[in-house]
Amino acid sequence: MTENKPIAFKAEIKQLLNILIHSLYTDREIFLRELISNASDALTQMDFLMLTDHNVLEPDAELAIRLSVDEDEKIITISDSGIGMTRDELSTNLGTIAQSGARAFLDAAEEGVDQQQLTDVIGQFGVGFYSVFMVAEWVRVTSRSYKPRAKAASWYATGGDTFTVEAAEKKDRGTTIQIKLNEDTEEFANEGRLRDIIKTHSDYVRFPIFVGDAEEQTNRQTAIWRQSSREVQDDEYTEFYKHLTLDFEDPITRVHFVADAPLRIFSLLYIPSKPERNMFSLRKEDGLKLYARKILIQEYTTDLLPQHFRFIQGVVDSEDLPLNVSRETIQATALMARIKKILTGQVTKQLQAMADKEPEKYAQFWASFGPFIKEGIASQETDRESLFPFVRFHTTIQPESWVSLSEYVQRMKDDQDKIYYILGDDDRSVARSPHLDYFRKHGYEVITLTDPMDSFMLMGLREYADYELQNVAAPDLELPAAEQTPEDEPVPEALPKKDFEKIVERFKWHLGERVTDVRATERLSDSVARLVDPEGSMGQEMQRVYRLVDREYEVPKKVLELNPSHPIVLKLHEIPGEDERNATIIEQIYESALLIEGLHPDPASMLPRIQTLMEAALK
Ligand code: ADP
Repeated sequence: MTENKPIAFKAEIKQLLNILIHSLYTDREIFLRELISNASDALTQMDFLMLTDHNVLEPDAELAIRLSVDEDEKIITISDSGIGMTRDELSTNLGTIAQSGARAFLDAAEEGVDQQQLTDVIGQFGVGFYSVFMVAEWVRVTSRSYKPRAKAASWYATGGDTFTVEAAEKKDRGTTIQIKLNEDTEEFANEGRLRDIIKTHSDYVRFPIFVGDAEEQTNRQTAIWRQSSREVQDDEYTEFYKHLTLDFEDPITRVHFVADAPLRIFSLLYIPSKPERNMFSLRKEDGLKLYARKILIQEYTTDLLPQHFRFIQGVVDSEDLPLNVSRETIQATALMARIKKILTGQVTKQLQAMADKEPEKYAQFWASFGPFIKEGIASQETDRESLFPFVRFHTTIQPESWVSLSEYVQRMKDDQDKIYYILGDDDRSVARSPHLDYFRKHGYEVITLTDPMDSFMLMGLREYADYELQNVAAPDLELPAAEQTPEDEPVPEALPKKDFEKIVERFKWHLGERVTDVRATERLSDSVARLVDPEGSMGQEMQRVYRLVDREYEVPKKVLELNPSHPIVLKLHEIPGEDERNATIIEQIYESALLIEGLHPDPASMLPRIQTLMEAALK
């Protein structure tokens, strides 16, 4: 067998190398972060192994990473005392293993994700090692596995289509990577430069990193979440977030909470800018990363925050959790429930602060995560009242800006004892709703709820600050006694009761089964008619919920209420009952009412009738 017969890289690795060498020029320094991160992983595994197994090569070797530079030859050497690799592992891990991450990275590059972002997150694709070819003319990886009988081997590549592996001499455990820099990256052959890069990108690596002959380690070594928030810069927080999530956008806000007593917890939580994860996101599931004494014990921990905060990303580290616990036992511990309570309180506090001091940011949060808060209010398991302060909506008085319940209550009219809302499909049609006639006329503010989640939210939000929430479309609604209509505005005369009864008969005859009743209402002024639910039927809120969860659900039939003072009603009375215009007009009144309720199954079907009406008007 020839010792160093060239081995072909897997196809996608070849393509990846091609991109790294020929098209990525920004942030080439991150190659160091990637190699250090691999070294750190190898050391973590070693650390973990030795918890149970001391039959390893050099059990007493210090777990550390060392760098040195040959300035004349332009060679950087990075060594670690981690688990190392056998000869087979070298060729599998560095070149022949199928890499779905490589494929995803290539896709991202093709999609035009910008260079900076790509290099920022290359490690997250599981192909960080190859970034070394952004700076290297050649790379040699010499490794010796921790397994006592394994022999050292060495891997060599220039970034072409192949690599070689051969036996090597190495006495100590771990991996040593030599990088011959190419002409335009010689700047990295400098210890000071390497120290700077380490401080920027690898400061929190858990193991000491030494550069050159210096006795002092270069990195701070403490995990970012274990530091005091005063010591961490904004951009460090952001960089950490991006690494954690692979989100290219900055988070909206963060909560860094460190406590000593009664529990020792370190937590760093982020609210992303959007609820959807991008296609490259590494956080495939909801949940926080849970560490016990800096060791990752669970990647997606969902029981540290209530369900409605599941969009939050971050890490939680506790000194109080036992290390050797299984998933099931973690969930069961009372400790978890206590941590959850603390974290929930911290998040709530932060949201409140944002709502108070940074309303624009809060508006961004609400636009992205409002539905989650609404869901939390609807859900049985939460302390829903704690979420009321976070709800925002538009109102008839402020259709553009976000209003909170407390603002609404503060400007309620003196005689008003309810919080009024209207449900609808979109703000514009809601604004024209006949249910609002009375409120518009008398200046009462009405909350407009047009988000599908609103009907769910209303299941848990029936009262705020002792005021009941009241749907303005409810048939049995008691209206606040309105102030007098200004004298110069003539009160329109209503059709006498007897005459109105005839009109009602005509409506009933034409509409037949489609409505449960036709009757007069005092509630309308500008509008001619409206649809309401029959008394005692299921409320509009629940109907909407049903409509959302069941496409087949049919909204129950409604009562058509008519405005006896409306000019159309008055004029209709003037034409004889057998006049064929009756049918056209009654149909149109009914269908318009359906439309404004968002219940019309086929609005375009009204067009021929509207045309008939126009022709009649022009006669
Ligand atoms: P990732 O580290 O995300 O898996 P990389 O492309 O950076 O992807 O590395 C590929 C694999 O090579 C690693 O998973 C690991 O098995 C191995 N490896 C890389 N560097 C080292 C090292 N310093 N010590 C031991 N194994 C290593």
